[in-house]
Amino acid sequence: MTPDEFRTAGHDVIEWIATYMETVDQYPVLSTVEPGEVRAALPEHPPAEGEPFERLLADVDRVIMPGITHWQSPSFFAYFPANASGPSILGELLSAGLGVQGMLWATSPACTELETLMCDWMLDAAGLPDRFRSDGLGGGVIQDSASSATLCALLAAREAAVRGGAQLTDLRLYATAHSHSSAQKAARIAGLADEQLVLVDVDARHAMHPDDLAARLDADLAADHTPFFVFATTGTTSSTALDPIEAIADVVATIDPKSRPWLHVDGAFAGSAAVCPEFRFVNAGLDRADSYCFNPHKWLLTNFDCSLFWVADRTRLLDALSILPEYLRNEATEAGTVLDYRDWQVPLGRRFRALKLWFVVRSFGTDGLREHIRRHCDLATTFAAWVEASDDFEVVTPTPLSLVCFRHTGGDATNEAILDACNASGDLYLTHTKLNGRFVLRLAIGAIGTELRHVEAAWAALQTAAATVDVA
Ligand code: PLP
Repeated sequence: MTPDEFRTAGHDVIEWIATYMETVDQYPVLSTVEPGEVRAALPEHPPAEGEPFERLLADVDRVIMPGITHWQSPSFFAYFPANASGPSILGELLSAGLGVQGMLWATSPACTELETLMCDWMLDAAGLPDRFRSDGLGGGVIQDSASSATLCALLAAREAAVRGGAQLTDLRLYATAHSHSSAQKAARIAGLADEQLVLVDVDARHAMHPDDLAARLDADLAADHTPFFVFATTGTTSSTALDPIEAIADVVATIDPKSRPWLHVDGAFAGSAAVCPEFRFVNAGLDRADSYCFNPHKWLLTNFDCSLFWVADRTRLLDALSILPEYLRNEATEAGTVLDYRDWQVPLGRRFRALKLWFVVRSFGTDGLREHIRRHCDLATTFAAWVEASDDFEVVTPTPLSLVCFRHTGGDATNEAILDACNASGDLYLTHTKLNGRFVLRLAIGAIGTELRHVEAAWAALQTAAATVDVA
């Protein structure tokens, strides 16, 4: 493809995306293809000769689009959102156009320096503690996912424990049944058995019980185990439950600093809300965490992938992950005056993710980011009030932000049938969880285009489904 051909095809692609943005609300939200259908519509073997670009875009329409679930639809209420705003898409495109691989400062100084600045900017924007700033002992990095952030934090904690003399099999980490599964996955990757993950009890709001954490730490210390990692969550996936980080930090602080477990806080979804001062309860206690992460790629107008990860003491991360082979040696690294982000993550290579975040923050400004979050939280409050006022549905957990957990009073089978009927309609997409063993519906409001009318339509669809489902 020559630059001129690229120019023509590129205009077509931008035009295609702009049209998609204008019409995304007209697609069935949830793809209805059967397993294997997309593949079956495509040739089994790669073409021997290159094809004209128009044919590619035509096949996107013909084959790919039916297999798309429309995360950008204003009626997408499933899981948590995955925002893709115009500025972030353009930043992503530019990043691809530059084709930079930012493993070392020297392999593109702008990639590293903009990333460090964005991590510091986001501390300001979200009112996060200074201990994570790059001009102190800490610092931030952009990971691909909250799962990678958890893994890196856990690897740093494991390294410190093992260097301190602990046996791998004696290590214990602490989470709850509502913590994200990435904690267990990270433990497995780090060579730990599932039994080394200790599940701490939760309270009535599904948040970690600090007293139970204390009891479990005491019991493990008495049994000569080594507690090395506490995984707390601000905004769980099931219900946005907020673990009490301050009380958890108090418990952790009772352990001798030389062998104190690492406290990581996962704010993957809820962390974005802290751009609004009134939602900074999600930051409570973070000034005592060893590391923290949240995902602008969920709820802060930035397309996947962009997960912010901060540590209070970057040397502990580097102790675990830094390896300098001969072929990566260079003057700037040797001089020790730069950050080399290859040492802050699992892979060596890295994308120029900061560019899209920079575009987002500059395009919307912190006022625009706040407006985006507030709108969704207001809509969730409105929806929760409708549910509360209805005779047939009830809200089952608090709604601190923009996720409403609710259920029909008719029982699990009825709720499952309502969910299936709504999703089959194509008009909206929502998902479920289980809380206290009961099937619960989740309405997660967070798509860029979601307005009151979309939430009204969702509520109407739920009521219609409730009136018509037949539970045998
Ligand atoms: N933590 C929480 C609380 C989440 O809700 C999620 C995903 O929804 C994750 C972690 C995992 O995020 P990622 O896909 O960035 O690994």
